[in-house]
Formats: sequence, structure tokens, C-alpha cells
Amino acid sequence: MNYVFPPAPQVSVPVAGSDARFPVRRVYCVGRNYADHAAEMGAHDQASGREPPFFFSKPADALVPGGGDVAYPPATGNLQHEVELVVALGQGGADIPLERALDCVFGYAVGFDLTRRDLQGRAKEKGHPWDMGKGFDQSAPIGPIVPVAQCGHPVQGALWLRVNGALRQNGDLARMSWKVAEVIANLSRFVALAPGDLIFTGTPAGVSTVGRGDVLEGGVDALGEFGRLRARLY
Ligand code: MN
Repeated sequence: MNYVFPPAPQVSVPVAGSDARFPVRRVYCVGRNYADHAAEMGAHDQASGREPPFFFSKPADALVPGGGDVAYPPATGNLQHEVELVVALGQGGADIPLERALDCVFGYAVGFDLTRRDLQGRAKEKGHPWDMGKGFDQSAPIGPIVPVAQCGHPVQGALWLRVNGALRQNGDLARMSWKVAEVIANLSRFVALAPGDLIFTGTPAGVSTVGRGDVLEGGVDALGEFGRLRARLY
């Protein structure tokens, strides 16, 4: 192929226990998928029923595989962390039936949905898109992908994040409003999903503001030793 300049490299994430890597196509995220986080964001109490899931995206090259040093982003005074279970798809499709949705999953990882909360808040007020609040450079540190063969389909267990050793988020996968199969089936009604797609499934309560020098350590205990992620802001 005769490109006018060299194409960007394929974004990929390590696979736990393997030399092979998972090639990333798209990165989707679910908003407000834990009631306690929705409440701390000021959303109306949904105890009487679930609000339909809604989705946003990050560019694939916003991923920071393995975590490590992450640059504090420009144009924000309120960077916040969100620790999430990430679903990695090995198969896709459109209008995926609920009962076949989990067959599409290759594996799972822990990820951080870093958020410019000030920009997101202003976007909400004005009805503007969330992209600059969510989809900025290095906004998505992610741990290795653990194949389903190793971890099964986790439905419960701690999902936590510490800032400089202090526990900030301490949720449980069992409290997700829309479960993984429901998220996949629902998202596939809006877009055709494909192998290589990642879905960040939302965060529990406890998000907080972080700054340069802070160390974020998070985990999804159901993923065992590979369900750990560390990022240091500089
Ligand atoms: Mn999130």
C-alpha cells in the first residue's frame, strides 16, 4: 500500500499468560452503570428501575496498556479516576441476542476511565458532547486481558481503587446495573461490534480528584493476579 505517510501502529493490549497480544479496534464505555456512582454524580435515584444504558467512546490510542507513567492532561483542573471492569470482544455482530452475548467475550481486564470532570460537567450543562472530558490522550490505562478460559465470566467480587494507598473506590461487580451480557446486547443494537472491541463497563462510587505525583492502584479481584493496575501521574 502506498500511504502518504506511515500509518499509526496497531494499538494492542497484552494477553495474560501469553506472548500474543489483543489487537484493539474500538473502545466503548458505559455511563452510570452503578447506582451509587450515578447518585454521587447527581443523577436521579434509579432505585425503582433501571435507566437504559448509554454509551460513549474513547479513541483506541487513548489506551495505556499496562499502566505506568501517565501524563496529567492539559486543560483541566479536576482530573478524576474511575476503576472499571473492561470486556474484550473476540467476536462481534449487530443485534446480538442476550443469550449469545457472552459467547462474544474473549476476556476481561481492569481499566481506569480517567475523566476531566470539569469539562464533562460543563458539557452536561450545555448539552455538548463528552469527548474532550473523556476521550483525551492517555485517558484509559488498562491491565492485561485475562482470557475467559482463565477467569470465566466474573459476576461478583471487589472492584477497588487506592490513591497513594488510601482506599477511594470499593465496589462490587454484583452491583452493576446492566450486566455484561446486557451491555453487549444493548450496544450491538446501535453499532455493529467486532473482534477487538473493548467495553469499559462503568464505575462504582468514590471517584475523586487526583493530581501530578499521585499513584493510582486499582483492581478487579475476580481476575486474580492479573486484575491489578497501577498508574502514576506526572
Ligand atoms: Mn466510566
